[in-house]
Amino acid sequence: MNAPAPNPKLPAAKRLDLPLLKVENLVKRFPIKGGLFSRVVDHVHAVDGVSFELAAGETLGVVGESGCGKSTTGRCVLRLIEPTSGEVTFAGRSVTGAGKTELRALARDMQIIFQDPYASLNPRMTVGAIIGEALTIHKLTKTPGEYHERIVQLLETVGLAADHMRRFPHEFSGGQRQRIGIARALAVRPKLIVCDEAVSALDVSIQAQVINLLEDLRSQFDLSYVFIAHDLSVVEHISHRVAVMYLGRIVEIAPSKALYTNPLHPYTEALMSAVPIPDPSIKRKRIPLQGDVPSPIHPPQGCHFHTRCPIAKHPLCSTEQPMLKQSGEGHWVACHLRG
Ligand code: SF4
Repeated sequence: MNAPAPNPKLPAAKRLDLPLLKVENLVKRFPIKGGLFSRVVDHVHAVDGVSFELAAGETLGVVGESGCGKSTTGRCVLRLIEPTSGEVTFAGRSVTGAGKTELRALARDMQIIFQDPYASLNPRMTVGAIIGEALTIHKLTKTPGEYHERIVQLLETVGLAADHMRRFPHEFSGGQRQRIGIARALAVRPKLIVCDEAVSALDVSIQAQVINLLEDLRSQFDLSYVFIAHDLSVVEHISHRVAVMYLGRIVEIAPSKALYTNPLHPYTEALMSAVPIPDPSIKRKRIPLQGDVPSPIHPPQGCHFHTRCPIAKHPLCSTEQPMLKQSGEGHWVACHLRG
């Protein structure tokens, strides 16, 4: 099993006094077992040397096709999944080196909102009990009155009503259920929320409402988000910077404006060409991606994208992994021909 080459530098957040989150060369490989004795016969290379920094109050969009490792990255950052190697630091504290007690304390600062709001809410618990669970675990309220008041406050913060606390998740629409998930994440007053495809299952109009709510909450509570989505158009308005992932690696990371106006990586260009433009008079040339995403069990040698890249003409494309290199203010790209 070859370890991925480390990235020379971290694509950094703008306000760099002390990054809130620092991810260095994160790797996650899932073992595949087989044979008579269930031995490890191979590995899925889910995350393959991901590095980035996130400033307080910043939103980093993470985009890529299904199976590119974006959700696994988000979960490894929170240690919901144990990384194979790499370092995660939150506000100067090591997440990857944390023991059980430290990890529990860190969980107060780092929360997650899941894609499927229905599956992530216990159908047998009332909304009040779901939101209040974390208040109890972390002993955040002293009296029943304070507990009740805090739940009402959280429901109202996410645009729900106080009397919703007595109802069950199935009595709500998809958008409302996601608001309950947001209230649950906010209960512990976190500093970072990983939004793992948090709006992907919602209708477009509801997506916009939830994104606006998340944006308001970010300003109100000085939150930072790692906002994971498979669609570039979804992350455009909420993200300060966007990282594009392909087969476990970040292939481009840049401030939103730079990425949307001047994408450098051929994969980003192809994703961008599929984003619908509201103005029908503007025509955009579609760049179709050839073939399927290669297997993450045996990813291609060299640039992982070379089997589908429309411009893979460099002799190194199929032999040498391109490292992220800086090509403009905060704009990094991993391509032998670009940047
Ligand atoms: Fe395409 Fe080569 Fe650049 Fe990879 S390194 S994106 S294969 S041109």
